Amino acid sequence: MKEKILIVEDDPRNMRLLEMTLRARGYTLLEATDGREALDIVVRERPDLVITDIQLPKMNGLAVTKKLRKTPGFEDTPIIAITAYAMKGDRERAIEAGCNAYLSKPINTRELPEVIAAMLLHRQSGKIPTPMK
Ligand code: MN
Repeated sequence: MKEKILIVEDDPRNMRLLEMTLRARGYTLLEATDGREALDIVVRERPDLVITDIQLPKMNGLAVTKKLRKTPGFEDTPIIAITAYAMKGDRERAIEAGCNAYLSKPINTRELPEVIAAMLLHRQSGKIPTPMK
């Protein structure tokens, strides 16, 4: 069975782009539009990987990531952060919060599935994905 991926994104157009990109690869997709909903879904559905926008209502993507890292069973779940406002220091903050990768919008629809596949592969082999990008 293909892995379950949670997409946390409040922008409908970007959500659709992510959906189309990942559905084509056969992943089971879960969706949340704010940080609190994301945490609820994570606990209930236990996704294999999380893609989160940084700028989100209620709780931003970095706060979501920090909470996830403290949730039993999610210490090593791959988390990919995406942002529309790439600023100096953002990548460091994302990695520090516990994200494994950091990508800026517009999403590169060729690069993203490769990053995801690499992370899921590392996870299966028992190695913790190292921060990249
Ligand atoms: Mn957003």
